[in-house]
Amino acid sequence: MILVVGGAGYIGSHTVKQLLDQNFEVVVLDNLSTGHRESVDERALLEIGDLSNAADLDRVFGKYSIDAVMHFAANSLVGESVSNPLKYYKNNVTATITLLEKMMEHGVKSFIFSSTAATYGIPDTDIITEGTLTNPINPYGRSKLMIEHILQDFHAAYGMKYVVLRYFNAAGAHVSGTIGEDHTPETHLIPLVLQHLLGKRESISVFGTDYDTNDGTCIRDYIHVTDLAEAHILALQSLQNEQKSNEVYNLGNGKGFSVKEVIETCEHVTGKKANVIHTERRAGDPAQLIASSEKIYEELGWKAKYSLEEMIQTAWEWHTAHPNGYSK
Ligand code: UDP
Repeated sequence: MILVVGGAGYIGSHTVKQLLDQNFEVVVLDNLSTGHRESVDERALLEIGDLSNAADLDRVFGKYSIDAVMHFAANSLVGESVSNPLKYYKNNVTATITLLEKMMEHGVKSFIFSSTAATYGIPDTDIITEGTLTNPINPYGRSKLMIEHILQDFHAAYGMKYVVLRYFNAAGAHVSGTIGEDHTPETHLIPLVLQHLLGKRESISVFGTDYDTNDGTCIRDYIHVTDLAEAHILALQSLQNEQKSNEVYNLGNGKGFSVKEVIETCEHVTGKKANVIHTERRAGDPAQLIASSEKIYEELGWKAKYSLEEMIQTAWEWHTAHPNGYSK
């Protein structure tokens, strides 16, 4: 049985579906603070509880025979992490330590951790490899990197086996159209553009047009949520086969798209014209973040399959079918 903590969230719910499709048994632990009960596949068991609560963890580890834990539950808004760092250190660091402690108490030693490109900060290279210096510039990135360091120590001292996956910009929705992205507030570029094109927002703002990039807007590496889910399963299998034990992998497409290119692709996919407004830079945005995912390709055979068009197409199908997200 695989325990998916935060399995009612965006990336967690897609991974749960994929695990079930590949015949894994899944129990989800989620406090539903930002996740959605409706996003959890009916084939999964759902335990409502909090990973910061030792009693909730004891209950789940006592009730099921857990082989491995995937941990998606975290706060992930950069701006909020700057204004409320305590929330990030409590929910992303302290709570994860409680989870790791309970795993060890219950003899569970395989862990897959959701980390982020934000651990790199402003990279000193065009293409980011796992060897690129980590130097996060906000509490969100720091909270994730702290856990990465803790995992190294727990591996050395207690034999914890783990894979860290550093996501770049997750996008898209499941091809079935049944699950997708539903954040409150929504802060991500692609859902914001699509909500605007659906008539739910007046315009789309481009945060900064004076970056040192081809068209002056920020470049990001967008990766389909189903590709992310697939990487989790390969990582899990590599732990189970004892192929790998303490590894860090980037997950991206290896291609960068500017904010302008993303908006143009949304217009192309939907056949609608966006009302684009140019505004100031958003604090803490590096000009360019592009991943090299060569390492996970070479070691686990993972490669992104979906294009930017396909990310936007699947996201558009989700948003048009669920204009108000999960709340109908
Ligand atoms: N962005 C933008 N307008 C928006 C939201 C985002 O121009 O309304 C830009 C943002 O500055 C960044 C890129 O789009 O360069 C992706 O931002 P997002 O918040 O989706 O992901 P992040 O890169 O912060 O993880």
